[in-house]
Amino acid sequence: MRTTMTTTGLVLRATKTGEADRALLLLTPDGLVSAMAKGALRMRSKLFSGTGLFCYSEFVLFEGKTMHVVDAASVKQVFWGLHEDVERMALAMYYAELAATLSPTGEEAEAQLRLLLNSLYFLSEGKRPPRQLKAVYELRAMTLAGFMPDLVACADCAKYEGGAFCFDALRGCLYCAECAAKRDLACNLDTPALSAMRYIVFSEDAKLFSFSVSPQVAQQLGAVTQHWTLVCLNRPLRSLEFLRTIWEPGGGDATAEDMDGTVPSEPETKPEETGE
Ligand SMILES: [Zn+2]
Repeated sequence: MRTTMTTTGLVLRATKTGEADRALLLLTPDGLVSAMAKGALRMRSKLFSGTGLFCYSEFVLFEGKTMHVVDAASVKQVFWGLHEDVERMALAMYYAELAATLSPTGEEAEAQLRLLLNSLYFLSEGKRPPRQLKAVYELRAMTLAGFMPDLVACADCAKYEGGAFCFDALRGCLYCAECAAKRDLACNLDTPALSAMRYIVFSEDAKLFSFSVSPQVAQQLGAVTQHWTLVCLNRPLRSLEFLRTIWEPGGGDATAEDMDGTVPSEPETKPEETGE
């Protein structure tokens, strides 16, 4: 008798293989699952719609010799807006590569799946600027994965707020301007960007996306969260390189991405709850 299992899952990868099969990588509440959807690319296949990239579906899987085989897939949610522009799709691909790289298990898998579904929703609906959504996803995903940065206060003198701070991604901690200077580090966070970082790390799930920042703050925040992500993972991500070619054609405007201590111009708004 075949062993079957039923699970919800988000399609992180759907690669065409053979004549019309799809090799899937799913993020389920229990972790990553590889599965083959045989004949899914035939237009009349019952598996066609439920096994597309970024589909969130309920799957019935049975155990094959080397991997799971999809027996049924019924769609729960499709993020149509992702397919509307290349920037959204590129960012979604980056989310997917990060989630696959983190390969969460147990309770963390469920939390990562929830974060990813919410992030895809806001991205797909165009409800937040993509740069802000990227920073939220990076920092929250790293925090869930056990890489919570120490954002409480300056690691040297315990100063909590006031003026610019330096987030040292190599040590995962903060320094105030004075202590950063003593360590030969440049400040990379003005007050609104630091507030946003703290918000992303400490807010409850339901309010995670309920803040707004100016484009300048989003840029500053994004430079720091990206650096933190790359330090934590300690490996390059292809989808990030692709995203950067969209955001910085020719690599010309990489001001805050350089992490060379450049502090962008004065931020304009503070994190706030929008009451959503
Ligand atoms: Zn200090």
